[in-house]
Amino acid sequence: MEETVALLVRAMLSKGSLQVSSTGFLLIGIFIYWRLPRNRSDRSARGLFRYLVPAALYGHRSAKIDYWILPLTIASAFLVSASGLVAQFFVSNSIQAPLSGILGVRTAIVENSRGTIALQFLILFLAADLMQYVQHYLFHKIPLFWRLHRAHHSAEVLTPVTRWRFHPLETIIEAIITGPGSGILSGFLLYVCGMKATGAAMTLVVATRLALQVTYYFRHSHVWISYGTVLSHFFYSPCMHLIHHSALPHHRDKNLGSLLSVWDYLFGTLYVPRHREEFLLGLSVDEVHDRNPHPNVFALLIEPLVTAARLVTAARTAGRLPSADPSRHPSQNGR
Ligand SMILES: [Zn+2]
Ligand SMILES: [Zn+2]
Repeated sequence: MEETVALLVRAMLSKGSLQVSSTGFLLIGIFIYWRLPRNRSDRSARGLFRYLVPAALYGHRSAKIDYWILPLTIASAFLVSASGLVAQFFVSNSIQAPLSGILGVRTAIVENSRGTIALQFLILFLAADLMQYVQHYLFHKIPLFWRLHRAHHSAEVLTPVTRWRFHPLETIIEAIITGPGSGILSGFLLYVCGMKATGAAMTLVVATRLALQVTYYFRHSHVWISYGTVLSHFFYSPCMHLIHHSALPHHRDKNLGSLLSVWDYLFGTLYVPRHREEFLLGLSVDEVHDRNPHPNVFALLIEPLVTAARLVTAARTAGRLPSADPSRHPSQNGR
């Protein structure tokens, strides 16, 4: 079983997963370009390239920061994903014995082997997706965490590379929250169903997540893809993440999900656009262009730490935990 998990981790970390997602992005991009009515008169390789890689976006100052930070964050992001899955698997199974000792041994509610794997897959997948939502929610709502997560939201244009624009400290904290968190949650649910996580179920979870990686590319691109109003209440469509990156106040803290949007629906953070919306991207309308606190890679790495330290110092001086987020009140911003 451990060998299966090790194999899966290698699959997630391999260059192959990147190639599959990139190819998927290209093929879907070609399909969309071909179907756009306005491109019918200019269906050429040049037109396609201009559509998929617009110079104004890919040459933008914000995109250049993404390219510089990529080598630093891509490795940690892949490691976090892989270690999160391993942690989920092992934590999930290691709490079975203590749970059985305290609450008693349970018999499996499904005997059929296919049904067992399907149920395990569902539990592992849902638990991981819910914890992704929870960690993203915490990074938006806890002032100290938000200082780090601002590095992702200070992007003013989105390209697939923005997907890896994170402060390195955020990826570490994310790993600590999501892996063990989803392990405890799925472990408890599996215990209730009288079963443990198997390598086969984990294989399915990893394969599904790898297959859906391509949607993350479109979430960070100028291509607007919506699943429609009804489906978007269940599945997180790429355009919903564009809304998440909006600088406008009414889009703030919306669409925090990962692959499913049901969590946003249940916890009141869902925003499903009914039609294509045009908006400014960035931290807020007061923190874009010349006032962007992250004009270069150095600022993106250091500013979150400096402002987080100021928050802690201010809280200590006031004798209480930080409760206000300076970025939500630009006049008090300590940048
Ligand atoms: Zn966010
Ligand atoms: Zn994003």
